[in-house]
Amino acid sequence: MRLRSTGLIALLSVSALTLSACSGGDDTEPEPAASTADVAEFPEGSTMAKLAEAGKITVGTKFDQPLFGLVGPDGVPEGFDVEIARIIASNLGIDEDGISWKETVSANRETFIKSGDVDIVVATYTINDKRKAEVSFAGPYYLAGQSILTLTTTTDIEGPDDLAGKKVCTVAGSTPEANLLANFPDTEVVPFGTYSECLEPLRNGQVDAVSTDNVILAGFAADNEDLEVRGEPFTEEPYGIGLGLEDDEFRTWINDTLEAAFADGSWTEAWEATAGTVLPTPEPPAVDRY
Ligand code: GLU
Repeated sequence: MRLRSTGLIALLSVSALTLSACSGGDDTEPEPAASTADVAEFPEGSTMAKLAEAGKITVGTKFDQPLFGLVGPDGVPEGFDVEIARIIASNLGIDEDGISWKETVSANRETFIKSGDVDIVVATYTINDKRKAEVSFAGPYYLAGQSILTLTTTTDIEGPDDLAGKKVCTVAGSTPEANLLANFPDTEVVPFGTYSECLEPLRNGQVDAVSTDNVILAGFAADNEDLEVRGEPFTEEPYGIGLGLEDDEFRTWINDTLEAAFADGSWTEAWEATAGTVLPTPEPPAVDRY
């Protein structure tokens, strides 16, 4: 799903750029709307200026997670993460055609940022100290928490205390995997590459449950009548936008852009058009300018 207003903002951005280029700084030129980008407004040499000048951004996101990043038949992903990335792109003056979507899975997000394969990652990506040693994070733009998914027919798993002696599927390189390995010594952790790959082992009895963030699991449960989320979230997973380590200018700019989207309703609009079709609309979180 693509939000019309985001597309409109991108269109306005391009028009504003064209107008200012043609008008030669004439003071009768129309004031661009607050969220439009003018390359000249970004410090020379900054990541923002480079991306705006190129008119292109490569975004790492999930391709198999309903509500947050799920690729459609046209190859373009849909979801809340995708809309957050579009808000960032449109504020750089980059239109939809300038966005390249690249699938990132849990284990390759830091690698893709460090190699320059992606400019940013918006992919249910928990901000934590271990990852902060390798990449920087803007945000958070959402607060999730680890939870459990079972078949509706499962009778003996209601929450994390019931995972002892059970086989639990999760994804390699994710925070839920790290938490299960560190704090659930009696649980057998079965790691796959993506969460959608956990569904078949759950259905055929190879594992008893799937564990990751509540909102990812809620997306699978909404799409599959035989699955349900059990218990309350038992960790904190603040979702951040991953970017190059120590690119403080870019991080600050994304944080400013997020706060503007919190304030002007575009964050809420993005939520309601995607994850909000299944989940309640939260208050925007406080950005952490660490
Ligand atoms: N938010 C957690 C993480 O970043 C789990 C979801 C995911 O693997 O993308 O690892």
